[in-house]
Amino acid sequence: MSIFEENRAKAERYLARFRADGVLNHINGASVSAVSGETFEVISPVDGACLALAAKGDSADIDAACCAAAAAFPAWRDMAGAKRRKLLNKVADAIVERAEEIAFVEAMDTGQAIRFMAKAALRGAANFRYFGDKAPEARDGQTIYAPGQINMTSRRPIGPVGIITPWNTPFMLSTWKIAPALAAGCTVVHKPAEFSPLTAKLLVEIAEGAGLPKGVWNVVNGLGEGAGKALTEHPAIKAVALVGEGRTGAAIMRQAADTLKRVHFELGGKNPIIVFEDADIERAVDAAVFMIYSLNGERCTSSSRLLIQDSIYDEFTRRVAQKADAIRVGHPLDPQTVIGPLIHPEHEAKVLSYFEIAKQDGAVIAAGGVKVGDVGCYVRPTLFTNATNDMRIAREEIFGPVLTAIRFSDAAEALAIANDTDYGLTAYIWTQDLTRALWMTERLEAGMMWVNSENVRHLPTPFGGTKNSGIGRDGGDWSFDFYMETYNICLATGPHDIPKLGG
Ligand code: NAD
Repeated sequence: MSIFEENRAKAERYLARFRADGVLNHINGASVSAVSGETFEVISPVDGACLALAAKGDSADIDAACCAAAAAFPAWRDMAGAKRRKLLNKVADAIVERAEEIAFVEAMDTGQAIRFMAKAALRGAANFRYFGDKAPEARDGQTIYAPGQINMTSRRPIGPVGIITPWNTPFMLSTWKIAPALAAGCTVVHKPAEFSPLTAKLLVEIAEGAGLPKGVWNVVNGLGEGAGKALTEHPAIKAVALVGEGRTGAAIMRQAADTLKRVHFELGGKNPIIVFEDADIERAVDAAVFMIYSLNGERCTSSSRLLIQDSIYDEFTRRVAQKADAIRVGHPLDPQTVIGPLIHPEHEAKVLSYFEIAKQDGAVIAAGGVKVGDVGCYVRPTLFTNATNDMRIAREEIFGPVLTAIRFSDAAEALAIANDTDYGLTAYIWTQDLTRALWMTERLEAGMMWVNSENVRHLPTPFGGTKNSGIGRDGGDWSFDFYMETYNICLATGPHDIPKLGG
């Protein structure tokens, strides 16, 4: 048996429970069907077949989950940080133990290559370990002195929170949002994306298996306009964190307005990678290829606009095209596969539509630009050259393995092109000239920038975007700022004159 065949057999074993029982909601420690009894089909990106039926939650299920989260909140809030640290580290251990299962289920549910999903599962464990370790310090604050008074600040968890996640790398992103909320002392109602809900169910089960009290973490599946909307409107929920598209963020702002909820959005990107002629070209090519074609290009931080200085444009794009042509597209469980199928036929149709749009707008397809086979959502890694920043392929988030290469003459022009976008999530700069790199970082409209590097995350650093790419920051203490309320206590340090009213 080849490794590929072994992988497929393993995946079938791990998926069997979902095929048999469906993807149930998880409310107050119990696996339950939707109150309405309704389900929706989870479609396999590999062959379009139905992978499982998921519970189609709506406002009744959300209400039950929010009530459970509200009931569990006081005890979870009051648990000592050190105890929460221990528990969340146990969750991390349990994720590591079941990393293979998570990786296989995730690969089949999302179409992401198994080589990346094995790492994504472990990153999920790292998120729990990192935020779990910070739990004892979550309430720490400052002392602020003023004449005659000492002020002390502290933080307390805001309450039950709603967490809404997208279909791309859903396991890792769910841990990234949920681990800090739990470490802060909040209880959670999670609404996973309808295209890829499987590993959210594994995750909550793993957490409760590790000792998380029931009701602290609840999961309701369903559609955005059903379960998602109801979650954002529920009065028990004090804050909503979304990872998703900009228009979903806008809808959530409106939906959450009546109950005055705090919101946090991690949204889309049209991120530039800017390569100057003095860059280490070999490494910059590898970084450009990695940052758009890994994870199927279905990644908010992918560098989908390649800005190259005139003198190296032809050589650079030739090398990227050569590498793109050599990338293996195939079944996500094949260990050789780099690019698996896109998440869903609807998303595939969107990505494919840009091949025609690019030609109509006058760009050249230098690599890819075609669908692979008739079954499954497979697309060749694509490079558009001769592009300008006003073309739709440069302005719209395609969210696939599709790269648009644009020329620039100098730093000022590179900066103008880079900033001429509605988005502002990440930017990548390649140059040996540190002064020029710093000049760029001061002016680039992006929440995160890397110089001479691909996207390498360090969990204590802030993560988030500007403009249409988001509101708020995650990572380190920034996550706690969102999930907690800061309060101040002022102590008089001596007798002072209190204004006397009424004689
Ligand atoms: P999406 O916005 O369509 O869906 C995200 C989630 O929101 C889903 O669970 C969906 O059901 C829910 N939802 C939709 N409408 C809702 C509503 N009215 N009320 C409440 N919930 C609602 O996004 P997607 O297509 O699943 O994911 C891809 C998008 O996510 C891309 O734009 C990508 O860039 C972005 N993303 C951003 C980051 C980041 O960190 N900045 C990370 C990953 C993905």
